[in-house]
Amino acid sequence: MIEIQGVNKFYGKFQVLKNCSTHVAKGEVVVVCGPSGSGKSTLIKCVNGLEGFDEGSIRVQGIEVGDPKTDLPNLRTRIGMVFQNFELFPHLSIIENLTIAQEMVLQRTPDVAKAKGMALLDRVGLADHAAKYPGQLSGGQQQRVAIARALAMDPMAMLFDEPTSALDPEMIAEVLDVMVGLAREGMTMMCVTHEMGFARNVATRVVFIDQGEIVEDRPTEAFFSEITNPRTQTFLGKIL
Ligand code: ADP
Ligand code: MG
Repeated sequence: MIEIQGVNKFYGKFQVLKNCSTHVAKGEVVVVCGPSGSGKSTLIKCVNGLEGFDEGSIRVQGIEVGDPKTDLPNLRTRIGMVFQNFELFPHLSIIENLTIAQEMVLQRTPDVAKAKGMALLDRVGLADHAAKYPGQLSGGQQQRVAIARALAMDPMAMLFDEPTSALDPEMIAEVLDVMVGLAREGMTMMCVTHEMGFARNVATRVVFIDQGEIVEDRPTEAFFSEITNPRTQTFLGKIL
């Protein structure tokens, strides 16, 4: 589904991604972790073309993201992205947040879009909040709306960039629960997160990135059972 090969990226002289290669097969959940500033957000943004890269190849369902001929806006509508800070439209109600792109981009009728939006709000436990505005919801609720909004587009894969790191501790579980549900249903997911419980629970593989380099890319069991790389040891020692 997602194939990243030999990706190099520079900000001026600073190399933020160094020969990065990994992949996410259909139905796989890959967790990406690593120290702050290691290039996790940059890597995940490259996957849906929010950031360009200088060398290498990223293919999403066979479509080369780096090819200037690729229709990136179209590709992005088929990849769900959830950010740390929710990024809901503040001036739209919750249900409008879920319907606007369905109507404008997928040309769904208001009725169809609303039915889909309500079903997804129900699924994330927020059907009662449809008429409210983002500012009236807690962080955990807003993030669940953001996930529902991404799902409304019937994405072929979902990208998460630290979806729980801006949340108060008591709200983390409600967001992770939604993500676990998605994973169990077979959604293809690439998740930047330091929630190692989530990783152990549902990840098929764990990628550890340090200073722009993919240092480890291993099945979850193996990643946690034999932590031999000193850089991984140091990192996990700090967060576990
Ligand atoms: P992470 O998500 O792992 O914390 P990022 O991908 O956000 O890391 O950033 C990786 C590195 O690239 C950091 O050192 C950051 O300062 C740098 N960086 C990120 N965006 C830019 C930019 N637009 N211009 C220059 N440097 C950047
Ligand atoms: Mg980041």
